[in-house]
Amino acid sequence: MTGPHLMVPLLDLQAQYRAIGAELQSAVSAVLESGQFVLGARVEEFERDFAAYCGSRHAIAVNSGTSALHLALVSAGIGAGDEVITVPMTFVATVAAILYAGATPRFVDIDAATWTMDPAALEAAITPRTRAIMPVHLHGRVADMAPIVEIARARGLVIIEDAAQAHGAQYRAIRAGAIGDLGCFSFYPGKNLGACGEGGAVVTDRDDLAERIRMLRDWGQAERYRHVLPGYNYRMDAIQGAVLAVKLRHLERWTEARRDAAAAYQALLANLPVGRPAACDRNSHVWHVYAVRVHERDRLRAQLAEAGVSTGIHYPVPVHLQPAYASLGYRRGDFPVAEQLAEQTLSLPMFPELTRAQIECVGAALSTLLPNNSARVVAA
Ligand SMILES: *Cc1c(COP(=O)(O)O)cnc(C)c1O
Repeated sequence: MTGPHLMVPLLDLQAQYRAIGAELQSAVSAVLESGQFVLGARVEEFERDFAAYCGSRHAIAVNSGTSALHLALVSAGIGAGDEVITVPMTFVATVAAILYAGATPRFVDIDAATWTMDPAALEAAITPRTRAIMPVHLHGRVADMAPIVEIARARGLVIIEDAAQAHGAQYRAIRAGAIGDLGCFSFYPGKNLGACGEGGAVVTDRDDLAERIRMLRDWGQAERYRHVLPGYNYRMDAIQGAVLAVKLRHLERWTEARRDAAAAYQALLANLPVGRPAACDRNSHVWHVYAVRVHERDRLRAQLAEAGVSTGIHYPVPVHLQPAYASLGYRRGDFPVAEQLAEQTLSLPMFPELTRAQIECVGAALSTLLPNNSARVVAA
């Protein structure tokens, strides 16, 4: 590479703070002055705004995406003896939440093009114990929901979307999280809509489930000290509610910037021996992660780091091969598409403030490092 060295981080939360810091400070100050630190008016305001944004009747704010998934399952009555179908190519929280509820995770492989749940593999995984399907909108791309919804409706199964990476993504003009019965979001700082700490939410159109989740997040109380359900302390902090209400107003603009960055990568990498994400409708992806498939991923990753380009891996080991979940009884070879993606996936820098110069720097580093002449393009 020629020219001055430009460092390109994988994610730059300080760039976001530079842009909206003043707004965040005044929102946080107002909470400090109010003396109300848990739930309350700021959290309710965020819940109203987020429900409207998703096009859902209800949003219930909680203290993490993991708690959102857990309460979605519990509210639907899913527990011991029940099976929940999900994918092994996800963050472990998806699977952990199923186990927290006392249920058993059953995996199906992902589709080789979209990297989300393969609807064609679904029927074979359904047993008399199956109660729910939990698709994951990996990297911010909405899973192919129409066949999943059709199978779930025919079998009377609950659909819980893990939309932790997909705030605002759309499937046939419906927002992620509002397609199934319940949708779960994370507001972990690095997510597309991130708190200044931990946070999560469940969205649903079902009044009964929303009411139950509201009670479950706050010790199962129907009113103060009347505990009608065995509940949890999963409440959202007021500071996070205030921060999220501010940030939600910027989310569409940030998402558009991510889409522009992804489009720039798609064009820039077109002639390089990398497997790019499958083309999709602009609205259906919010590019939480922009990942390519490459051979000899780990070596390339180290070389990119030397060239000043930070990368990530989402995720290097599928959940069915993680030691913590060995007791589920899966083995290498059970989900070949997920296993191959885990070996080849490489996440490039992606955040709304990413500049054209930074994107070009990533492209230049890749074209220098990848052996154009000999390499086979990795099949998408
Ligand atoms: C981040 C994430 C979660 C967990 O959310 P937390 O807020 O970290 O608890 C669950 N599922 C997926 C797919 C995620 O990316």
